[in-house]
Amino acid sequence: MNFDPIFFRSQFPSLQSEGIYLDSAATALKPLVMIEATNRYYLNATTVLRSKHSQALALDAQYELARVLAADLINAPFNHEIIWTKGATESINLVAQSYARNRLQSGDEIIVSELEHHSNLIPWLQVAEQTGAKVIKWEIEADGTLSTQHLQLLMTNKTRIIAVTQMSNVTGYQPNIAKISQLAHQYNAIIVVDGAQGVIHDAMDVQRYDIDFYTFSAHKLYGPTGLGVLYGKSELLQQMNCWQGGGKMLKTTSFTDFKPANLPYKFEAGTPNIAAVIGFYAVLDWLKTLDSNTAERYTIDLVRYTYKKLCALPNIKIHSRANSPLLSFSFTDIHHDDIAILLTEQNIAIRNGELCAQPLIKALNCKGVIRASFMPYNSQTDADKFLFAVENALSILK
Ligand code: PMP
Repeated sequence: MNFDPIFFRSQFPSLQSEGIYLDSAATALKPLVMIEATNRYYLNATTVLRSKHSQALALDAQYELARVLAADLINAPFNHEIIWTKGATESINLVAQSYARNRLQSGDEIIVSELEHHSNLIPWLQVAEQTGAKVIKWEIEADGTLSTQHLQLLMTNKTRIIAVTQMSNVTGYQPNIAKISQLAHQYNAIIVVDGAQGVIHDAMDVQRYDIDFYTFSAHKLYGPTGLGVLYGKSELLQQMNCWQGGGKMLKTTSFTDFKPANLPYKFEAGTPNIAAVIGFYAVLDWLKTLDSNTAERYTIDLVRYTYKKLCALPNIKIHSRANSPLLSFSFTDIHHDDIAILLTEQNIAIRNGELCAQPLIKALNCKGVIRASFMPYNSQTDADKFLFAVENALSILK
């Protein structure tokens, strides 16, 4: 397999327009195969897992094949361990409410890293409030990394859960998941890994790293919005209560109780986001044709090139790792909003602010960052236009 950046880029219709898209960490652009698959679904729309007419049965098969491809992506041992959710946010809430809420007792501890996106912090704060458990902050080191030695000092016989990201959406730092997982299990705790950013660049092998729960959103992996994956170990998912009730998550019911359906359906109440699953099937199938290692190296090279040039700018502070696919920076003398406005005027799409990671931004000692995130569909021209636009913004503001 070969990675051809020009051919790869040509598969994204929205890149035919003028602008430079460097906001893929917020959501990735969509390849034509995904758009066409979603369109085809809507042209012949029907339901899944309910009706028995031939159109619906054919769609059932494709719907379940998407689950198989999602399981393959993260090396999940069983397809029924893949739960369709609305996104990473909903997946983590599901684990907090359905796994943690019934198990945590007053005084139990949930260790959450300081790197986390709000969606891997707030659900734990909520369940801590509901149960009397405590959220323990695992602080970053001065160099922005997470130390597992530091983690070991935080762990006690009350530690029940470690919640950690596979890759920070602000700094691109990737914690040592293998070691964290090993520590969690040594203390009889579980590990919940937020793969929302990591999955784009290097999908998790949930068996190799012995992950209890792993989640990601389809829309950051070239897929549709409104769809996410929650992977959980069968034995954990089986013990968990259903989170939401409704159609197809049960075997039998009466006015007194109900018997839940088998996995994965007990967690998939109501008509699912069929169009998104079908669109995501197309993406996962298409991704098999991508030489992802070469594509990733190409992306990192682009970021390195941009990083080096940015380093030369006056009063800049770069907060992201040199070998990560995203570039976050701030200026000591200019507000990030001012730069962002001037970049927008020059047709450059970036993200700025706290990036849904307020505690981390505070730890980084700045008011907010400007984040340019790259994907293999970006080009050297994109990097150069971005750099030119930043310099231009600086010359206007100074
Ligand atoms: N975690 C991280 C690290 C993220 O970057 C995001 C998306 N910004 C999320 C979780 C939440 O993903 P979603 O909004 O798709 O649920």
